[in-house]
Amino acid sequence: MSNDSSFLSTWARSIAPSPTLAVDAKAKALKAAGKDVCGFGAGEPDFDTPKFIKDACAKALAEGKTKYVPTPGILPLRKAIAADYVSRGFRNLTEANIVLSPGGKMSCYLSIVATISPGDEAIIPAPYWVSYPEMVKLAGGVPKFISAEDTAGFKVTPEQLRAAITPKTRLFILTSPSNPTGTVYTREETEALVAVAVEHGIYVLSDEIYAHLTYDGVVASHPATFSDRAAELVITASGFAKTYAMTGWRLGTIAAPLPIAKAVSSLQSQMSSNCTSFAQFGALAVFEQPEKAAESVAEMRATFDRRRKMFLDGLNAIPGISCYRSQGAFYLFPNIKSFGLSSSDFAAKLLEEELVAVVPGIAFGAEGYMRLSYAVSDETIRKGIDRIARFCKKLRGA
Ligand SMILES: *Cc1c(COP(=O)(O)O)cnc(C)c1O
Repeated sequence: MSNDSSFLSTWARSIAPSPTLAVDAKAKALKAAGKDVCGFGAGEPDFDTPKFIKDACAKALAEGKTKYVPTPGILPLRKAIAADYVSRGFRNLTEANIVLSPGGKMSCYLSIVATISPGDEAIIPAPYWVSYPEMVKLAGGVPKFISAEDTAGFKVTPEQLRAAITPKTRLFILTSPSNPTGTVYTREETEALVAVAVEHGIYVLSDEIYAHLTYDGVVASHPATFSDRAAELVITASGFAKTYAMTGWRLGTIAAPLPIAKAVSSLQSQMSSNCTSFAQFGALAVFEQPEKAAESVAEMRATFDRRRKMFLDGLNAIPGISCYRSQGAFYLFPNIKSFGLSSSDFAAKLLEEELVAVVPGIAFGAEGYMRLSYAVSDETIRKGIDRIARFCKKLRGA
């Protein structure tokens, strides 16, 4: 058997592995070797899945709900998700518009494959979630980036979007709240961006995986609710992973115009079939026991918020670092430009010298920043702030 990778496909050779998962793996390996690592690389809640969800799943498993189910998902769950979206203002939406996928990541990928043909362009605001450009490339498409710095709140403008549109543009990807920056666009800002896409008949992939995790009284908006025309062009990707601490369950959702929902379901029927049957029954508990669900989310949100403020204050007190006040998800994206190092060098040295794991901004298409997750314990944050402060002081030669 040859070890020559030149026999691999174009796709296999061009794909970059997820840098965030790589940082996490490195931090976990150091930890396993007995090192006291402060890991801020992970993109997952540090809570366990709420018990009422696990119980519903265990019950389904015990009852033998272990066979294939319909490709787009079990009917009661799709109905419940549709009803929830309708209650939040989604238009002309029924269970026919809903597809359950093996994770929010897969929801994004299927949506991209359903809308992008070879040579088509997808406009992606940077800093971006690491997977979007690779997914667009896997569909044979071309990612086109528009960027925003911390001074602009990491928010791209309608003018930037308009200027990036060409006859080949098919898709605009919007993530609010954002991973990696935690930025949440206001309703007005979102409407202005979506209006440009609608005017040009471009699909919008709205990744709303963090919609329930917002702070400072800010609310995430849903582009699909803006107008009837928007409802025909917006694909809403989401899932249970971040809201209910269910990353390992692999359960994502797609709410899409009918032709897209059908296409995505057909793609899935050939690629993976339904996502795990008993996991879906677990997720159904979220809608059957809404008080418990709301309580769990409120509890996790309050904890994230407390850590967010603590981390923000700590980072902004370090000379040379300035950190934008993110109002969503569970990430901070501080500016480290004053140190004159590339973000990769900064992150590598920080891990080596202080055992602090962060993801360099360049992984998200933004040099001069780093991403820190605050889905970690208060103690880790306190320790991390001390170590980062010591590291920065050394860098400044102070
Ligand atoms: C975590 C994440 C997802 C999807 O997560 P899954 O674990 O696949 O459900 C999608 N988009 C963004 C921006 C994320 O951070």
